[in-house]
Amino acid sequence: MSDPRTVTDGAEVLLAKPRGFCAGVDRAIAIVERALAVHGAPIYVRHEIVHNKFVVEDLRAKGAVFVEELDEVPHGATVIFSAHGVALDVRREADARGLRVFDATCPLVTKVHVEVAKMRGAGREVVMIGHEGHPEAEGTMGQSDSGMYLVETEEDVAKLAVANPDQLSYVTQTTLSMDDAARIVAALKARFPKIVGPKKDDICYATQNRQDAVKIMAPRCEVVIVVGSPNSSNSNRLREVAKNLGRDAYLVDNVDELRPEWIEGKRTIGVTAGASAPEVLVHDVILRLQEMGAVRVRELEGIDEKVTFPLPKGMG
Ligand code: SF4
Repeated sequence: MSDPRTVTDGAEVLLAKPRGFCAGVDRAIAIVERALAVHGAPIYVRHEIVHNKFVVEDLRAKGAVFVEELDEVPHGATVIFSAHGVALDVRREADARGLRVFDATCPLVTKVHVEVAKMRGAGREVVMIGHEGHPEAEGTMGQSDSGMYLVETEEDVAKLAVANPDQLSYVTQTTLSMDDAARIVAALKARFPKIVGPKKDDICYATQNRQDAVKIMAPRCEVVIVVGSPNSSNSNRLREVAKNLGRDAYLVDNVDELRPEWIEGKRTIGVTAGASAPEVLVHDVILRLQEMGAVRVRELEGIDEKVTFPLPKGMG
């Protein structure tokens, strides 16, 4: 049998801090669990409650039924909106169909929705910086029936045609790369000098803290493993941040995706996790790295997050 040890003898695993679950993900999962406990299965969930396969499978086993559209939900049933938020149309449809709704939209996404409503109320068009096809972008774009534009790149900004450049504002998706967002905001300001936006941007504390932690960790290691699902925006950004710092970086949904050749001969391996990835998956990766020969595991200094969000009224 071949020797499972592949990393350099004495190799060390560095853990980014913070990593993994954020307050919005904790709350969203708690809402589904609470709804199941109080109302019983099935509880319908529109879209993956958070973008993590392990979390979704776990809740499915407990009686959650994941659907993409509300027409898949029987009349009068209970439905939960995912942490990414929904367009106004979806809320209207849920009302029209007599569904009981629990809203797991992260309060930091709701904050962006409120910004959009205020900007549109003030007669401004709104440019959203976000990823096309991502449910958060769709939900935020759907906060107004008109006057919204989605841009993803500086090229999109160059091509943008708006009704009135003097009455323009912008918002951002909460899980963008801070560096990319800063570049796109700069491009918007260069092209539309009167554009107004939120004080900084709408990137949430959890996205920012996890990216900052990778910026501290990546220069100290030879390879970075990010635990997260392929459809998780903030997990993909963590991998990009490490790559932009010149490190090999890989996204794994679970330990079985960890490939020995990525870490062969490495002396320092960095590990982090996206905001929707549970810590148990990080533990699995650490155990595997230890089986492969890592001898030390060290969590780096970092921010202690104290943010929590209450459950919706009537659920607490
Ligand atoms: Fe909320 Fe940020 Fe977590 Fe998304 S990543 S659920 S916006 S705290």
